[in-house]
Amino acid sequence: MARLAQTAGLTEIQQEILSTVRTFVDKEILPHATALEHADTYPQDIVDGMKEMGLFGLTIPEEYGGLGESLLTYALVVEQIARGWMSVSGVINTHFIVAYMINQHGTPEQKQRYLPRMATGEVRGSFSMSEPDLGSDVAAIKTKAVSDGDEFVIDGTKMWLTNGGTSNLTAVLVRTDEGAAKPYQNLTTFLVDKPTGYGEVAPGLIVPGKIDKMGYKGVDTTEMVFKGHRVPAGQILGGKRGAGFAQMMDGVEVGRVNVAARACGISIRAFELAVEYAQQRSTFGKPIAEHQAVAFKLAEMATKVEAAHLMMVNAARLKDSGNRNDVEAGMAKLLASEYCAEVTQEAFRIHGGYGYSKEYEIERLMREAPFLLIGEGTSEIQKTIISRGLLREYRQRT
Ligand SMILES: Cc1cc2nc3c(=O)[nH]c(=O)nc-3n(C[C@H](O)[C@H](O)[C@H](O)COP(=O)(O)OP(=O)(O)OC[C@H]3O[C@@H](n4cnc5c(N)ncnc54)[C@H](O)[C@@H]3O)c2cc1C
Repeated sequence: MARLAQTAGLTEIQQEILSTVRTFVDKEILPHATALEHADTYPQDIVDGMKEMGLFGLTIPEEYGGLGESLLTYALVVEQIARGWMSVSGVINTHFIVAYMINQHGTPEQKQRYLPRMATGEVRGSFSMSEPDLGSDVAAIKTKAVSDGDEFVIDGTKMWLTNGGTSNLTAVLVRTDEGAAKPYQNLTTFLVDKPTGYGEVAPGLIVPGKIDKMGYKGVDTTEMVFKGHRVPAGQILGGKRGAGFAQMMDGVEVGRVNVAARACGISIRAFELAVEYAQQRSTFGKPIAEHQAVAFKLAEMATKVEAAHLMMVNAARLKDSGNRNDVEAGMAKLLASEYCAEVTQEAFRIHGGYGYSKEYEIERLMREAPFLLIGEGTSEIQKTIISRGLLREYRQRT
């Protein structure tokens, strides 16, 4: 799509990366996505291709073997990939968040140990806050780590781990009870090494099978059960007990820009499909695009695609400039995911009955878009974050 979702001021390197990724999406992802999704098949060839392009190390600093690119570059790459198939962006997203957290908060040893192997995709990251009884209310985490000599013993059940089976490093937020008054100050992030696969993958660490989902198929989402699993104390992120909540929230903040970018990618694709179909399908003697009701839908969809893209780019640039972007990332995620649900719905309506057929790509997008309303914090949670931030900023001085 030449006209929509353009980004001003990109460097030559950014343009080159995006052009390479776009070609990869058109040739290697789009032609296979729907069949792989319907079969719920892990896209191994596509993942191998992404490894070859260096995408697992896109934002990892060059000193650790990565490409050292910005959050903006990453978000624009994700937008392209999600235009092809959202699940593929899911494969790199948790990895990206964990690499970011290690780079920002890890000890020098942790950075040396993980980042070079994360840059090549040899180590693949997942991250885990949610549990069966909680998602939005992170501070209520129950999974517990108890100190025992120079190890910690972890017990509890985590839920909804994207890449839970295919990753070999999981950043897990658990309760360590530091005696702090605020519940969130009693949480600690552990870097848990584990083999890939399902079942009891390590003593006291069980990854039951893949959760059967409505969409977002191909990529694995799992539970993770800890039954007395022992982790060395040196695996605490940054060596800082009680700092886990803040570390995770920092990771989720960049994750929210990524979710906004995914929503933009799906919306772009839904628009492309709708504008093409509207010119092919005729009713009452003319293409449906010439009925004003359909043309206006296209105009509204394109406007939403453009608005979401600009807010996503703004949030990424703010973080890249070294500023906190909680409000802007929340706004971008809220707007892009809500618009994405609306744009896919309109593209579906334009397809008439064919939109309900599994032969048409829009059917897949209709099942993918709702996840974006939930993942990395629901729309209600984004509104909480945005309003809190604004009230801090606009506090009345009496
Ligand atoms: C496919 C998939 C992949 C995921 N991957 C991961 C992952 O890799 N790692 C991870 O840690 N988690 C992951 N999650 C979990 C996800 O982050 C949570 O599902 C999400 O944060 C919502 O939490 P919940 O499901 O417990 O809903 P709840 O928190 O129970 O919320 C239920 C409803 O109540 C509303 N609500 C809750 N609290 C409030 C409030 N204070 N004010 C107003 N409304 C409120 C919510 O908006 C929602 O509508 C994944 C989820 C899915 C579906």
